[in-house]
Amino acid sequence: MYVDYHVHPLSHSGGDYTEVLLIPYLSEARERGLTEIGFADHDEYWEGLDRTIIASVSASSPDLKIKLGMEVSYWPGRETEIAGLARRYPFDYLIGSVHDIDNWMFDHPAYRMGYRAWEFDDLYRKYYELIKGMAHSRLFDIVGHLDLIKKYGYRPEGDLLPFAELALQAIRQSGLVVELNTAGLHKPCAAIYPSQELLSRCFELDIPVTLGSDAHTESEVGRDFVYAREILYRIGYRRIAVFSQRQRSFISL
Ligand code: ZN
Ligand code: FE
Ligand code: FE
Repeated sequence: MYVDYHVHPLSHSGGDYTEVLLIPYLSEARERGLTEIGFADHDEYWEGLDRTIIASVSASSPDLKIKLGMEVSYWPGRETEIAGLARRYPFDYLIGSVHDIDNWMFDHPAYRMGYRAWEFDDLYRKYYELIKGMAHSRLFDIVGHLDLIKKYGYRPEGDLLPFAELALQAIRQSGLVVELNTAGLHKPCAAIYPSQELLSRCFELDIPVTLGSDAHTESEVGRDFVYAREILYRIGYRRIAVFSQRQRSFISL
């Protein structure tokens, strides 16, 4: 079964949830054979979220479960603000994502030249240090695009697993779920987040997974999920995590 827990109907333009905005996402989810869709807009647009709209589209979609989540940018020092955001709605889940290193939006195409300032070993060490801090904060349910730092293909030579190991231990200790995010397939790195090597290590550590497309338009909902499922299955996963009111359960993959 497929769920897509990383969908951005407000994209990067903000605004408010309306039925007209959400319904095309639901249609696409049905067409792709999803049993569940989770709207998880970027936290900067939290004011546009509307539970009453979620409730009304849910009522007219008995065949599809609809969840309300949010993708929250984590950086050290933001913990209190994030805890406040988490209380604004009865969210089903929060995705924690690292998009910034010391105020540098490393995943934004406009700031790509910032990679020139780094030794890639140091960059990866710093990035996974932030992921570790995010896991320890215990503010989140799901880790978003775990190895986003590879987005533009900049990476140290050799095995990347050692850079992530302590972060993965922290993820396990905090009981977090890792998403398999298919958006990376359409970015310069041309690979899923996280890599198959990292996913295999997650499996060894008994870290659960879920699925997300990072759709910013309706046509991207559930994109590449047949491939994603195949990878998870080959690694050994037989179930994926789902959330209701921030309580985790599992469905078969
Ligand atoms: Zn986005
Ligand atoms: Fe993100
Ligand atoms: Fe996203």
